[in-house]
Amino acid sequence: MKKILKYTSLVLILFLCVILFNTLTLKSDKFLVEEVDKVEVPDGAIDRFTGALKFKTISSGNTKENYDDEFYKLHDYLETSFPLVYSSLKKQTFNQSLLFKWEGENEELNPIMLMSHLDVVPVDQTTLNDWEAPPFSGIVKDGIIFGRGTLDDKVSVLGILEAVENLINNGFNPKRTIYLAFGHDEEIGGNNGAGVISNYLEKKGVELEFVLDEGGFISEGLIPGVDKPVAMINVAEKGYVSYELTIKTKGGHSSQPPRNNTIGSLATAITKLESNQFKLKMTPLIKTQINILGAEMSFLGKMFFANSWLFKNFLLEGFNAKTSIAPTIISGGIKDNVIPTTASVIINFRIMTGDDSNKIKQHIIKTIDDERISVKEINPANLPSPVSDYNSDSFKLIQKTISQIFPKVIVTPGLIGGGTDTKHYEKISKNAYRFYPMRANSENISGVHGINERISISNYKEIVQFVYQFLINQNNNDNE
Ligand SMILES: [Zn+2]
Repeated sequence: MKKILKYTSLVLILFLCVILFNTLTLKSDKFLVEEVDKVEVPDGAIDRFTGALKFKTISSGNTKENYDDEFYKLHDYLETSFPLVYSSLKKQTFNQSLLFKWEGENEELNPIMLMSHLDVVPVDQTTLNDWEAPPFSGIVKDGIIFGRGTLDDKVSVLGILEAVENLINNGFNPKRTIYLAFGHDEEIGGNNGAGVISNYLEKKGVELEFVLDEGGFISEGLIPGVDKPVAMINVAEKGYVSYELTIKTKGGHSSQPPRNNTIGSLATAITKLESNQFKLKMTPLIKTQINILGAEMSFLGKMFFANSWLFKNFLLEGFNAKTSIAPTIISGGIKDNVIPTTASVIINFRIMTGDDSNKIKQHIIKTIDDERISVKEINPANLPSPVSDYNSDSFKLIQKTISQIFPKVIVTPGLIGGGTDTKHYEKISKNAYRFYPMRANSENISGVHGINERISISNYKEIVQFVYQFLINQNNNDNE
């Protein structure tokens, strides 16, 4: 007995030693760069930005609404606002999307592309009174710019153009060709904008080194346990698919409800799915994130993050590292005393790296185990994106630029659940990095697609400085 006790305590001590060792040895890789003089952003930049917010370039998804004119007016506005961009770069229009080509000196280098989108989501009219300033006014109050597009995503369209205008003015000549691509329908899938531009470039044989797009930001206090701001350069995005589940029964009179009522059975199917989630997945990308963020935490947080072999599921749940299941639309029933013969639900899935729509369908059928329910894919699925290389020179250049402009910020590659226009460029681009330095915190993040979308003047200037410095870094790198 004594012996067993002795061995058990030995194992326990060893176990604690391993946990402690891992915790104490998890250190951050300090990415040291020399600080730079940030470019001076002229005050006129704010007027140019707020002016662009006034155009109702809305992607509503409703084919009866047409905002084309607003897009063309915005095009004209950009042309008068950025004369050097329009005279030095070659501009092409694809539907209401814009593509600029800034010819580089060295044809042997693959071009790069800075992307963003001109369209915005509609404003829920019932929330208009909750806005501190009307969503298409571009009004500035106490250093804060209000309006649709201040975070998603006119902010980066204008930020890019402002930076390029300044670079041209300062005599900058790119070594490698730079494309600027601004889609007009990102919020409804991007097929007629980014999709068309990508097809055009593919036909011309263009092969991009990488695209830089929205989809990552500087998170301030949004990651539990990490005090420092974190810049997420998202190198992958989840896929997207929705399934419609329809139940068909004989229906009947509500005074004589059958045991397996139509709506009740559908509800059971939904509940089964929600309690049978997809498996959590530890991918190399998530592991990298765990190491980088864990190193910034206090002892307790660090202990969890440094011992992901032990706290795997807890951590992965936090990273939402699985295909997610979200019922979003339900319908059925015609009258309060009639048991309907049919009812249906639409369930949206965000597909984790490594999963696909067929796997999802099989999971649904197996889990609900009800032959009365049919399972139909609504639109063709968007598969999860490839995972871009986060050890590439390009990634390091973005990281370097962030560290120069935002010296105290932690940089990590990441995975996002939402989709961006980058998916259209997968076929012609080696890598896709999703990051512009909008500062997101618990106060303002709900403004994206929500109420009171806003950004500070100082943050907008930082975005211009980031793009400016990034293109200089890219050029210096290409000169070596
Ligand atoms: Zn967007």
